[in-house]
Amino acid sequence: MRSVVASAGFALLPDALKTVPVQDPVVDTTHKDGKPVSYEKVPWKARPFPMKQVKLGDGPCRVATEADRRYLHSLPPDRLLHTFRSNAGLPSSAQPLGGWEAPDCELRGHYAGGHYLSACALMYASTGDEDLKNNASLVVSELGRCQAALKSGYLSAFPIEFFDRLRERERVWAPFYTIHKIMAGLLDMYVYCGDEQALDMVQKMAGWVAGYTGSLSYEHMQRVLGTEFGGMGEVLSNLYAVTGKEYYLHVAQRFDKKQFFDPLAAHRDELKGLHVNTHIPQVIAAARYYELTGDRRYRDIAEYFWDEVVSERSYCTGGTSNGESWNTDPGKLSTELSTNTTECCCAYNMMKLTRHLFGWSPDARFMDYYERALFNHRLGTINPEDGTMMYYLPLAAGYWKTFGKPFDSLWCCTGTGSEEYAKLTDTIYFHDDDSLYVNLYIDSQLEWPEKGLGVKQSTRFPEEPGTTLAITGKGPTQLAINLRIPYWATGGSVKINGEALPAFSSPSSYLTLNRVWKPGDKIQLSLPMRLHIDSMPDDATEQAAMYGPLVLAGRFEAVTREMTYGDLEPKPGNQRKVANITADPKEPTAWIEPDARQPLTFHTVGQAETSTLVPLYQVIHERYAVYWKVDKRST
Ligand SMILES: [Zn+2]
Repeated sequence: MRSVVASAGFALLPDALKTVPVQDPVVDTTHKDGKPVSYEKVPWKARPFPMKQVKLGDGPCRVATEADRRYLHSLPPDRLLHTFRSNAGLPSSAQPLGGWEAPDCELRGHYAGGHYLSACALMYASTGDEDLKNNASLVVSELGRCQAALKSGYLSAFPIEFFDRLRERERVWAPFYTIHKIMAGLLDMYVYCGDEQALDMVQKMAGWVAGYTGSLSYEHMQRVLGTEFGGMGEVLSNLYAVTGKEYYLHVAQRFDKKQFFDPLAAHRDELKGLHVNTHIPQVIAAARYYELTGDRRYRDIAEYFWDEVVSERSYCTGGTSNGESWNTDPGKLSTELSTNTTECCCAYNMMKLTRHLFGWSPDARFMDYYERALFNHRLGTINPEDGTMMYYLPLAAGYWKTFGKPFDSLWCCTGTGSEEYAKLTDTIYFHDDDSLYVNLYIDSQLEWPEKGLGVKQSTRFPEEPGTTLAITGKGPTQLAINLRIPYWATGGSVKINGEALPAFSSPSSYLTLNRVWKPGDKIQLSLPMRLHIDSMPDDATEQAAMYGPLVLAGRFEAVTREMTYGDLEPKPGNQRKVANITADPKEPTAWIEPDARQPLTFHTVGQAETSTLVPLYQVIHERYAVYWKVDKRST
């Protein structure tokens, strides 16, 4: 199970100042009397734009966002509120939701009063969808009635006695995990939608959390942290960043799990045996502590963890985990291919952590990873037909993708997915005072009113190997435009207003174009893609084929709708046999050739069985293979 969440950082403005752009919360500048106030000791060097300044054009990202938006619209507030009202002793005649929101599920409330609010707030911030904002505001005010009825500041869809079981170390699923989701949802409603009642409610919840945790000794609290607790440290830090009340930061740090942080601070990988999605949110919290306190130890923890997970514990898709855990020593992944590899929440949280590291140090390698996870794990794990989400992305060959049911699954990954596809505009562009970072090649329009300019990015990427950026606005403006040259680029070129530049940059770096830009100026970036192989770190015969940034999957027979909906994973054992590939190690991609007629489509050649390969994100209802067993061709 499990997963995490949102973000937060600053306050919306008083009515009179509504024309002032609200920044991305995680950078956290609150506005007091129209002046920015920041509690950050370490501001990001490169910062995102408020999402409302970035609009998606046509392409797979917009398809995902629109599917997510339709799904959020389909959820009736009364059904979302049912278990909260019941728990507070208030009447409700609504039909309960099922799955992890069912009235007997110990995690109930995590989506209905948590992820749902975050997702609606993010969707409002990115698309301006007023109806979703209004639905979410209604849920907030009804949750406020529940909180008032429960008295003590506690707000949940399950009884407070769950926390007695947690304290006594009796069996209980994950109460703080769920509380984190609700707190983050309320804080997002304040940050992105200006909902003052939500801020008041989350502060009351924080007061209750402070009382509960404050009554335990340090050692007792450390034992409580043995039960999954989501991003409690993060949301309490964000509450400090929004209110300036330092007390919340102290409460946040009660969620520092010593036995997890100490080895990371000493640069020791002791991740084997840990539940993955329990721990990534703790590192996001560490990243926030660093930003808010300046304590370098927390930065060390976050950077070492990120390096270790990305370089030693991630698959070609950017995903991590097998059966929700890290089961092996670093670099051992060939034994870790199954029907339940790479939980979607883990990709969501790693991408969220990546934004912090990039903010501190805008290196292309962070955005290379972000692109890998976005195009290979996130796109393609939402069903474009109905906005349902996957839980695991299976990487054992011959299986298929399974999606939740709209009202009867509501897993952790439904929650993180609902948020992910509502905020696909938050990382395409970053900036500092004098420069713009173009991180991702996605058809979109950026407005940057402080500079009096905009950028219209036109591309069919990844179908098109490159992009075109047109400067819009008033201009002229002196500006360094940094274009990411991805790790997979071989060659490539750039033209300004039709004229080729003599220089280019090496892979995994930013190419800086510093000049006075005028409206109508045009940058054409060409990034030729080629086939390449991504092998298992511990078994060179276990190989995935990639084309530029894209993981290719062998696409096989379609599966039935019954096989697709409702289960966390495909049935182990119901596997299509996938024949080994034979290849000459000197020409490792010679077994694949492009289809002359269809973009991003390939075929195997010279094999016992001819297969078609397409980007993994395009496979929805068919069996597939990502890793192939490759035998050496004897010549
Ligand atoms: Zn999950």
